[in-house]
Amino acid sequence: MTTTHTPLLILGSGPAGYTAAIYAARAMQKPVLISGMQPGGQLTQTGDIENFPGFPEKISGSELMDRMREQAENLGTTIIDETAVNVDLSKRPFTIVLDSDNICTCDALIIATGASAKWLNLPNEENLRGFGVSACATCDGFFYRNKRVAVIGGGNTAVEEALYLANLASEVYIIHRRDELRAEKVMQERLLSNPKIKPVWNSVVEDYIGEKDKGGLTGLRLKNVQTGETSELSVDGAFVAIGYAPNTDLFKGQLELDKAGFIVTQSGRPQTSVEGVFAAGDVQELYFRQAVTAAAGGCRAALEAEKYLSSLK
Ligand code: NAP
Repeated sequence: MTTTHTPLLILGSGPAGYTAAIYAARAMQKPVLISGMQPGGQLTQTGDIENFPGFPEKISGSELMDRMREQAENLGTTIIDETAVNVDLSKRPFTIVLDSDNICTCDALIIATGASAKWLNLPNEENLRGFGVSACATCDGFFYRNKRVAVIGGGNTAVEEALYLANLASEVYIIHRRDELRAEKVMQERLLSNPKIKPVWNSVVEDYIGEKDKGGLTGLRLKNVQTGETSELSVDGAFVAIGYAPNTDLFKGQLELDKAGFIVTQSGRPQTSVEGVFAAGDVQELYFRQAVTAAAGGCRAALEAEKYLSSLK
């Protein structure tokens, strides 16, 4: 076990974390970034990105994150591919324990731990995860070539997943609890004009049908929320795309969190309830969960952290 002190530590390696690192490194702060369980974050699980400025030819989520990482490293960030398992923000310096049992202490901390996919929490869900039930079409879609699949949700993620799966699967059902999608209009148009995709409106999944040891998922039991009627839809794969929950378990009881678990920050600023601790990206963002807004948040957090660190001198 080793203990290392650094003035500025960044937790998380999505666009918020890497952008914070890029700015802090350019400001000669020699930041250390702990990448977490999924280096590159959620974007490594998306396909092509068309709306991150500067990439007119599109760029894959993984490549974008690889480039951000390289940029952060080139400018002088030290990246540690480990996960923080414990933090103590009650005294200074702040203490962060890593999964290797090594300890980092720091004077300022930027939290950019992002968010994770939400699940429906149905009885059979845990059991069938990896056996027909998934939350990532780009990770698992390959297994459903020429098969029938369903996507649950009505936001941008659900529509993206359905469009991605339509290139592989024979039929794609999008199951939404209302009769109107939340996704952007351009995405809706692409979805509704794709002959392979069939929306199932006003419907919720009541349960997954199938057994892990007997071929996994075979179908979904659906309920029409308007008529109360139930039906079975035969599918080989189900992709849950109902939004994200913030990765803030580590900070419970140490930082102010809102009811949904997001870190509370000062309006329009990255400051949290503990002086010297800043938050950026999806971990504190209820509305604009975009790569570009997360990157902007990382920039703001790094600039404020720099100001805070100079005030300690
Ligand atoms: P979202 O916008 O919150 O949409 C979640 C969807 O799941 C909604 O349609 C919601 O239904 C449904 N839902 C939530 N809980 C449910 C439950 N328990 N049972 C059934 N359905 C449920 O989440 P998202 O699509 O993951 O997007 C998150 C953010 O990332 C958004 O800001 C989005 O714009 C952004 N995003 C952007 C892009 C892009 O620009 N290319 C791609 C992906 C995501 P209701 O509509 O009825 O609430």
